[in-house]
Formats: sequence, structure tokens, C-alpha cells
Amino acid sequence: MRILLIEDDADLAELVALGLRQAAYAVDHAATRGEAEDLLAAADYDVACVDLGLPDGDGLDLIRSLGREPRRRRRPDRIVVLTARDAVEQRVAGLDAGADDYLVKPFAFAELLARVRAVSRRDDQVDSVLTWLDIEADTAAMTVTRAGRPVELTAREFSLLRHFLRHPNRVVSAEELIEHVWDRNADPFTSSPRVLLSRLRRKLGRPAVIETVTGAGYRLTDRPDRADG
Ligand code: CA
Repeated sequence: MRILLIEDDADLAELVALGLRQAAYAVDHAATRGEAEDLLAAADYDVACVDLGLPDGDGLDLIRSLGREPRRRRRPDRIVVLTARDAVEQRVAGLDAGADDYLVKPFAFAELLARVRAVSRRDDQVDSVLTWLDIEADTAAMTVTRAGRPVELTAREFSLLRHFLRHPNRVVSAEELIEHVWDRNADPFTSSPRVLLSRLRRKLGRPAVIETVTGAGYRLTDRPDRADG
């Protein structure tokens, strides 16, 4: 999952970005509305955390503009508003502008993480655990088991698995993996999707559940026999 953090308070942004990266999210940071618009034109974000008071504009206006100009700027799948404005009407305005959730400052970082997990749940997911066949990934504890046995993954491997688990039975291209598992400062060539994927497959063991779709990408499959070939 890739998150766009739009926050002009440098100390808060640094803290939040660090925490999100430790939770295996790819994070890009924008300190102004202008920077945010540039980033939104360049990448697809799963979640945007949007501070409302920005030096060059209002976060609410930015959120509203995303719905109106879908070709110029891609709207993040989910939007969480971060705001010091705790008045009821401000919260209502945030939700009406298209936000999925909001958090009033000052907030506990653990709560922000929980909100991000909540807004990005898979349709059939009821808690923090993503499951597929005998694989269970707890996105809160960042633990993975297969058939009840623990699977030790690095943060990026976890992020990769989480992307597949959020989009099961769908072909995922290498470009899409780079877009959602790496942030814009990361060098995908030092650990390419292919290399990372082979490590993840090895750690998950057999029967294999991630199949290669020739010329198109990869797919988390519920027919492991197909992926084993
Ligand atoms: Ca601010």
C-alpha cells in the first residue's frame, strides 16, 4: 500500500512518515497543496492522509478538486483527514467533501494506523486479518502464518504480500507492484519485484499461491496447482 501524507508541520510529518514506513507502507510526503497535486498526478495512492490547513490552500478544496478533475489527478482510493479543527461542522464538511474518515489533532499514532487499516479493508474483511486459503496476514500485528506456522517476512515482503491479499484473483503487473509497494524515493532496481517476489514465494512455501501470468504479471490464485508448474 502506498500512502500520500499531506502535512505542512515538518516534525509531525517526519514522525508519521517514519511510523507508516515501519508498518510496511510506502510513503510519499507533500508539505503543500502544490506538492500534493504534483504527486497525485504522478502516482496512484491507496490512501491519502490530508491535513486541512496547508500554507498554499485548503485541504478540503484539494479533496473536492480530486473528484472534479479525475483525468489530471488520480483520486486516492481512500482519504483520511487530519485536522486540528474539531468543530462538528468541520468534520461533517470533511466527510461531505469525500473523506472516508477523519482524525482530530493531536492524535495517537496507533489510532492513525488503525484508521488507515480500517479504511483500506478488503470488502470481505472484518478485522485486521487478511486471509487466503491457509495464509493469514495480520495487518495490525504484521505477522503472517501459513497453515498455522509463522512465516518471517521483511517489511517490504509483507507489503508485497498485503498487496496481493488485497487484490486476490486479479492479474497484478510489475508496474503496479512498483507503484504500490515502493515509494518515489526507493530504487526498485536494488530489489526488483521479480527478486522480491521470488523471496516471498520461497518463504510462503508450497503449494505455491502466486502464479506468473506470462506477459501480464502475477496473480494470487486459489488454484495452487496452477502456480506450482
Ligand atoms: Ca497544517
